[in-house]
Parts: sequence; C-alpha cells; structure tokens
Amino acid sequence: AKQQGRGLLRFFSPEMTQRAKTRLRLEADLRRAIERDELLLYYQPQVDLPHRKLVGLEALVRWRHPQRGLVPPGDFIPLAEESGLIVSMGEWVLRTACRQIKHWLETGIAPQQTAVNVSAVQLSHGSLVERVQKILDETGIPPQRLELEITESFIMADSEQSFTSLTELRALGVRLSIDDFGTGYASFGYLQRIAAQKLKIDLSFVRDMTTNSSNASIVRAIIALGHSLGLNVLAEGVESSEQADYLLALGCDAIQGYLISRPLPVDEITAFLVQARG
Ligand code: C2E
Ligand code: CA
Ligand code: CA
Ligand code: CA
Repeated sequence: AKQQGRGLLRFFSPEMTQRAKTRLRLEADLRRAIERDELLLYYQPQVDLPHRKLVGLEALVRWRHPQRGLVPPGDFIPLAEESGLIVSMGEWVLRTACRQIKHWLETGIAPQQTAVNVSAVQLSHGSLVERVQKILDETGIPPQRLELEITESFIMADSEQSFTSLTELRALGVRLSIDDFGTGYASFGYLQRIAAQKLKIDLSFVRDMTTNSSNASIVRAIIALGHSLGLNVLAEGVESSEQADYLLALGCDAIQGYLISRPLPVDEITAFLVQARG
C-alpha cells in the first residue's frame, strides 16, 4: 500500500494536478458551450484554378469562451473527441451549416457546396447517418449541397462501421471529401472503397512545396493519384500566388487558403458570396 501511495504521489505531481483541473474545467465549459450558444461557424472559400471562381466553402467551428475569448478548434476538438462530446457538437455543426446553406439558397447566393468536418469519432459512432438524414429532412436542402470532410487518418482505424456509414452517406447523396491527404497511409483500395469526390492535399506539403523538392514531388504524386481515381484535387493552406501558380502548373483543380481569404464569420462570408456572384 505504501508503494502504491508513493506511485500515486508521483503520478499526481503538482503540474499534473493543475493540468488535470484545467482540463476538467474546460470539459465542463465545453459541455455547456452548445446550450449557451458559444459555438459559431466561420467559413473559408474554395476556388478553382485557373479562374479562381468560387466553388465551395468549408465550415470551421470556433468557440467564443466567456473568459478565454475565441478558442481555436485545435484547443478543444481533441478534448471533445476524448470525452464523446464531439457527437453532439458535430450535430450542432451539421445543423448550423445546413440551416445556413438553406438561407443562402433562399437568397440565391449559395455556393455549389459547403463542407463540414466530420471527426473519426463521429463516424465510428454509428448514429451519424441518421443524424445527417434528419438534418437534411429538417432543412430540406439538396444533399449534394453538403460535403463531409473525412480525415485520411480515419482509414487507418479500419473500422467496418465507418465504411458502412460512408457508403450510406453517399447513398443519401451528400458529397465526401478526403481531408489532410498525405499524412496517413491510405491504400489505393481504401480510397476506391470510399467513393469520395474530392481529395484535399494537407497544408504541410503545400507550405514549402516551392522550396522543398521532396514536398513538390509528393504534391505532384497526390494530384496524379487523385486524378487517376477521378477525384477533384484541392490544395489547402495556399498563402502565396507563387504556390497557386505552381499548383496550377501541376494540374491541381482548386485551392483554399489565406491567399484567397481567411475563414470568415457569417456576415463577412455572406458579403463575399454576394460579391462572388456579381
Ligand atoms: P482542417 O480541417 O485541416 O482545416 C484547415 C485549417 O487550416 C483551419 O484551421 C484553417 O483556418 C487553416 N487554414 C486555412 N487556410 C490556411 C492558410 O493559408 N495557412 C494556414 N497556415 N492555415 C490555414 P482551424 O480553423 O484552426 O481548424 C483546425 C482543425 O480543427 C481543422 O483542420 C479540423 O481538423 C478541426 N476542425 C475545425 N472545425 C471543425 C468541426 O466543425 N468539426 C471537427 N470535427 N473538426 C473541426
Ligand atoms: Ca477540413
Ligand atoms: Ca485539412
Ligand atoms: Ca488538418
């Protein structure tokens, strides 16, 4: 017992206890965030190459914490995934994005599609398909206006439930996009099984593509792979026109990044949509 006690003491070092407390508080805050209307969606444009015509948007969640201010998703999505909160949070994101799409359709400025990020945890949960179906029914938007971004890393989990869900989602008519491509180990066979429409090259490869020849080779290979599977290939994290020109030369179909626009709150992205139409 004495030994065990010492072990516990070592385990709960003062910093650990502090970290655990902060984490618990954040988790409790996050649990209330949805009810208290503290979550909001930002939207980032996706444009085609070479014309830079708007082809879609990606919805990115933000948390306006009463004390901490605007918290980026990297600081709370992992916590939401570990605690299971991601399921209800993900449903909120889907419903909010679909209601927004409906609103843009009614005002005649809706982009072809709006993408929503779906966590591997949501996908393996099993209830995702029914939730998406319910939200499509509620809002009445055409399913092809909604795109779901699934990270490549989910494929490594190799869950049959996830594959079944993806097949059913495709049957509903929603579009699928493979996110963060190049960071996982998806095989050709898996990619074929998913039947996505789009492949997004992870921004880590795009970042120093113009100066790092091995990253340039990876980007070139991903574009070739995507095209051989009949997928639309989009590069994310494009910040310079040099990168955009390079991607155009490699035959990339579309780009997303600060060069075009940062993610914007609803009123600003709506103004962007109005302008893009005019
Ligand atoms: P992601 O899906 O790969 O999203 C792209 C991230 O890159 C976004 O960060 C975006 O703001 C950022 N970004 C866009 N253009 C540029 C650029 O030109 N340069 C650089 N350096 N970054 C750029 P954000 O919004 O902080 O989101 C981070 C991650 O959090 C997302 O990565 C996604 O994995 C996750 N996430 C965001 N919203 C949601 C959501 O609603 N549900 C789930 N499950 N995950 C989400
Ligand atoms: Ca994404
Ligand atoms: Ca990504
Ligand atoms: Ca990412």
